[in-house]
Amino acid sequence: MTLELQNPQHKSYDIIIIGGAIMGASTAWFLSKNKDFRGSVLVVERDPTYVNSSTMHTNSCMRQQFSTELNVHISQFAADFVKNIRDHMDADDLVPELSIQNFGYMYLADNDNFADVLRESQQVQLNAGAETQLLSPDQIKLKYPFYNVDDIVLGSINLRDEGYWDGTAVFDAWRRQSRKAGVEYIANEVVSMTKSANGTKVESVTLKSGEVIACGKMLNASGPRAARTAKMAGIEVPVEPRKRYSWIFAAEQPLDQDLPLTIDPSGVHVRENGGGTYQCGAHSDIDPAVAYDDFTMDFDIWESHVWPILATRIPQFEAIKIQSEWAGHYAYNTFDHNAIMGPHNNITNFYFLNGFSGHGLQQSPAMGRGSAEMLIYGEYKSLDLSPFNYNRISTNTPIIEKAVI
Ligand SMILES: Cc1cc2nc3c(=O)[nH]c(=O)nc-3n(C[C@H](O)[C@H](O)[C@H](O)COP(=O)(O)OP(=O)(O)OC[C@H]3O[C@@H](n4cnc5c(N)ncnc54)[C@H](O)[C@@H]3O)c2cc1C
Repeated sequence: MTLELQNPQHKSYDIIIIGGAIMGASTAWFLSKNKDFRGSVLVVERDPTYVNSSTMHTNSCMRQQFSTELNVHISQFAADFVKNIRDHMDADDLVPELSIQNFGYMYLADNDNFADVLRESQQVQLNAGAETQLLSPDQIKLKYPFYNVDDIVLGSINLRDEGYWDGTAVFDAWRRQSRKAGVEYIANEVVSMTKSANGTKVESVTLKSGEVIACGKMLNASGPRAARTAKMAGIEVPVEPRKRYSWIFAAEQPLDQDLPLTIDPSGVHVRENGGGTYQCGAHSDIDPAVAYDDFTMDFDIWESHVWPILATRIPQFEAIKIQSEWAGHYAYNTFDHNAIMGPHNNITNFYFLNGFSGHGLQQSPAMGRGSAEMLIYGEYKSLDLSPFNYNRISTNTPIIEKAVI
């Protein structure tokens, strides 16, 4: 694909956002909505088709089942945002009513250790206001007779604000409204940066088309390319692209009820996709960082690994037909799988919004709001997201989130 590069209208912006997918778009929208902010915003996106972004490869689901209370609160805001999107977006006629298809996430434990993790996590979730239920194998079988639970010790599911939502509709609405409010989006690529003489500020970014654009602050929202972008300012960030495979298949005999997003103990996961079709996801046992442009599909993994697991867990899936398959990238945070955000300690106008691994879509409302607050006020106003600060890496204080997919 040859991209026609676009030049920005100005030579200088208060805020430059690198990456215009869900995180960049969310932050730009929250900036544009904030009455205390009158600055200029430029969003630079290297591929406005977004075809290879994580945002376009997502399962588009949200869950309340996290093991840290903060991650639950982040998803609660996502649920509120999606269910009340028209209120959040000023009853804009072009913004549709949205809902969450609450089929829930079904975590399955096949050993006592993981069952204990589910029990502990349920307490965190209940304390945070979620409605997680623990199910014995018999209870699972009663509610979801299609599962094989012979090896299962415990299940955990929450049927409120947990399931599929239309992430693309939210993404489109954020971009459209923020553009209307004056945010400038351009098709171009940030290829390098210049810093101030004392090295504490990024002064400008250089675009692929050659323009040098000055910035007050800049936000790294470049997904799996986060480390590449950070390197332009001489910064390390522990984020790498890791392949995640997806399949859509049709079942010869579809289930007669919605399939929860089921996380098999093997890590293979599968969910309802409507019309007798299902979406499945998995990764290879060996899970290295890959090249930024490597989206090659592994055609063997389905037959050799994924389908046998699926057909064992749900015997009705013995007879299925693949309809489509693709490889996408997680922006995999190798430090602790969680978001990395806020300013850099020394280069103080360089802000992060990176490392969302497999749960960034649902975090985009809270993280975009928080990022905008940090850029405007230098602190979080609505939900304290400071545990995700970049400096937890240098102080070696990981956030232990046990519910990672
Ligand atoms: C298979 C799969 C399933 C998933 N399922 C879920 C799910 O069910 N629920 C959930 O919450 N999350 C899910 N996720 C995770 C979620 O999709 C991501 O966390 C989220 O989309 C990250 O958004 P982002 O904007 O940070 O990154 P991206 O969507 O990757 O966007 C980054 C953008 O930055 C641009 N860019 C990069 N470098 C530059 C540069 N130098 N100059 C200009 N532009 C640049 C890129 O072109 C890209 O468009 C899934 C991810 C995958 C891969």
